Amino acid sequence: MLNADGSFNCIQERIQTITSLEKTFQSLVLFLSFNTHHQDKFTQSGFYKLTCPDCGKAYIGQTGRDFTSRYNEHKRFFRNDTSTSKFAKHLNDHLHVFGPIKDVMQVVQFHKNPKPEHH
Ligand SMILES: [Zn+2]
Repeated sequence: MLNADGSFNCIQERIQTITSLEKTFQSLVLFLSFNTHHQDKFTQSGFYKLTCPDCGKAYIGQTGRDFTSRYNEHKRFFRNDTSTSKFAKHLNDHLHVFGPIKDVMQVVQFHKNPKPEHH
């Protein structure tokens, strides 16, 4: 191991600075995109991908309703009954966390003719 108090601390500090800068930038990008088209993206239906924030394992699914409802459904499965959601089961089995929708759910493909909101 190298002299720990000198160079190591310096690198560590720099990594932390870069990380916090990245976080600031990411939240700025998120803030901007949420105020444009990002917001109504999840009100549509289609194919989605659920990615585990902890290990990156992905599950593809499809919904005829809006993505937000489907996300909330998976979240309910995660808390209650994981037999109907492979994604929820994975999180429970591996003690991985259920992240916010922006971290967990990605739209793969929108349905061509989205069904009306009321169902
Ligand atoms: Zn995982």
